[in-house]
Amino acid sequence: MLILGLAALLAMSAVTLAGEQGRGPSAEGFDRLADQLDRGELVITTSADAHRLLDQLKRQIPPGDVRRELRYRYLFCIMAMDGDPAAGFAYAEKGLADARRAGYADAEINFHFCRGANQESLTTARDALPDYDAGIEIARRTENTRLVADGLTWRGAVQSLLGEHARALVDFLEAQKFYDSAGEAIESEQNLFNVAVAYRRIGERREARGYLDRLMALGIQRKDLPQQMSAHMELGFLDSEAGTAELEPARAHFVAALQIARSIGSHVAQGSAHLGLAEVLNQMGDYRGALVELAAARTEHVTTRDQSDDDMLALQEGEAYAGLGDHRKAIDDFNHAQALLRESGNLRYLAELLDHRSRSYEALGKTALALADLKSMVKVHQALDRKAQSDTSTLMSYQFDTARKEQENRKLEADRQLRDEQLAALERIRRWQRAALALGGVLIMLLLWQAQRQLRRSRRLHRMAMTDPLTGVANRRRLEEVGAAAVDQARALGQPLALIAMDVDHFKAVNDSLGHAAGDRVLVAMAAVCQGALRQVDRLSRVGGEEFVALLPGSSAADAMLVAERLRVEVSALALDELAPGLTITISLGVTELRPSDRSLDQLLRRADRALYEAKKLGRNRVEQLLD
Ligand code: GH3
Ligand code: MG
Ligand code: MG
Repeated sequence: MLILGLAALLAMSAVTLAGEQGRGPSAEGFDRLADQLDRGELVITTSADAHRLLDQLKRQIPPGDVRRELRYRYLFCIMAMDGDPAAGFAYAEKGLADARRAGYADAEINFHFCRGANQESLTTARDALPDYDAGIEIARRTENTRLVADGLTWRGAVQSLLGEHARALVDFLEAQKFYDSAGEAIESEQNLFNVAVAYRRIGERREARGYLDRLMALGIQRKDLPQQMSAHMELGFLDSEAGTAELEPARAHFVAALQIARSIGSHVAQGSAHLGLAEVLNQMGDYRGALVELAAARTEHVTTRDQSDDDMLALQEGEAYAGLGDHRKAIDDFNHAQALLRESGNLRYLAELLDHRSRSYEALGKTALALADLKSMVKVHQALDRKAQSDTSTLMSYQFDTARKEQENRKLEADRQLRDEQLAALERIRRWQRAALALGGVLIMLLLWQAQRQLRRSRRLHRMAMTDPLTGVANRRRLEEVGAAAVDQARALGQPLALIAMDVDHFKAVNDSLGHAAGDRVLVAMAAVCQGALRQVDRLSRVGGEEFVALLPGSSAADAMLVAERLRVEVSALALDELAPGLTITISLGVTELRPSDRSLDQLLRRADRALYEAKKLGRNRVEQLLD
């Protein structure tokens, strides 16, 4: 809850309040101020600040301007309705209906987010998911990436609360990429918090601490109190989870957070800080102290009508009573907590609860019940283990995906740079040529040398964009370029052109038994052998994971069959003992040649692929050619 409760506060940062005093309605004034609010560019530390800004905004709405009115309302909903979830929910619901009627997607999305945020406080976090999903869906459909990212952070926060750490992290990391690429520094920093929390919850403590220390330093540097407060809270949780050694620092962090929460008048944050303190005190064995903190937390929660932490309150209260020896009271609390936890489905807390309750039952001599709780606890731990495994695979597939996309992006970027640089180099050479007419001697030499150096640099970029980084052979893009030229040339000169497609046999087995890194080295070795077996004019390219294509200008299909057979033999003779004793690989190959009816390189490639498929079907480690 803390994360969301503070989202509105934290989203605002830096700079000063808008100079816009806006005495009367002004569409431009409104837009300027609303943009600043949307982008989180204004410092808002108290709800009085928020209200003042919103009033200012309201005065500037031109009469009868439905869109701006709706925009004002969603900003109001998100910024000013944080004290009363029931009212906030109703406000958002009305806004949502009006936004739909007006056909104003941005407002519709924001009201979904606002309704979700209030829903979280009213019932449980899970109930807010449909609103966040709906908002994200509309934002994706209307290609509003900024709001997609916002939605991902709302949803990620809920996933995080529900114990879906990996999903949360994936949402946050995806949002982070957007904020960074769009240069949304403030949002980006705010979201780093979420990333830190998700890492903490997933058990990646070092990652989490790294982010939190950085955020704390930034908060101090900017005198941003809400940010310091959140960093203290999170560092408090991080330390309190580290076991008994870090309990003192944990307490210090919660105390610091509480002080700031008081100074900025945030009841939600005060409640969370008291609860955090109670947890630490319970761990320290100061059960009376814990009860005092819990009572204080409860008072704050009543003030804000926030029920999202009720499960934790009951759990901690149970632990405190159990510590004081009042096991009956403790069990009442645990039962209450269990009912609430079942709703939120937080397994980690459920395991903690079962552990403590079984001890209380034992203390009361109810061994059968104690045993039943222990058995349940084991089951919950097993579920947690499975969860951890699926978290890991969720995260890994995301990282794999990301790495691939990033590689593609890098290539595109290299391409773009290359074009720019070549243009610039040409332009410069032209200018210098003109200058050369007027100047003479050394200066010209110098200029020409520089021009050449620049061209060399752009050639390096060109190579980068066109080569496969693993094997150093051409990549698919290069093949498409060279291939198209080769087709043109063959047609122009009336010469044949052949193409060989090849694919490693059962390559998955190599990866599976020896690891991906070994698989990579096999690919490097294989590319080198093939390269060596081809002529200078032939062009080898890596077109997929373990798929290569050789382009043979001037060769007919019959020539290419011989070459392919040579490649097959040389690859099968490749000694890979350094990777695994006795390891060998084989490849299957498909051969084809340019036909008069071919309209593009693509047709050739597809035919070669079909031939390759034949080779696989007929038992692998062989060469095939299509005869139709
Ligand atoms: P076959 O072609 O004989 O039908 O069997 P295969 O096992 O080679 O099957 P498939 O072509 O479906 O599998 C290719 C495998 O290559 C799957 C993937 O794990 C692996 N792979 C793809 N790209 C790379 C890479 O860059 N490095 C490594 N090490 N493995 C890769
Ligand atoms: Mg294969
Ligand atoms: Mg393959």
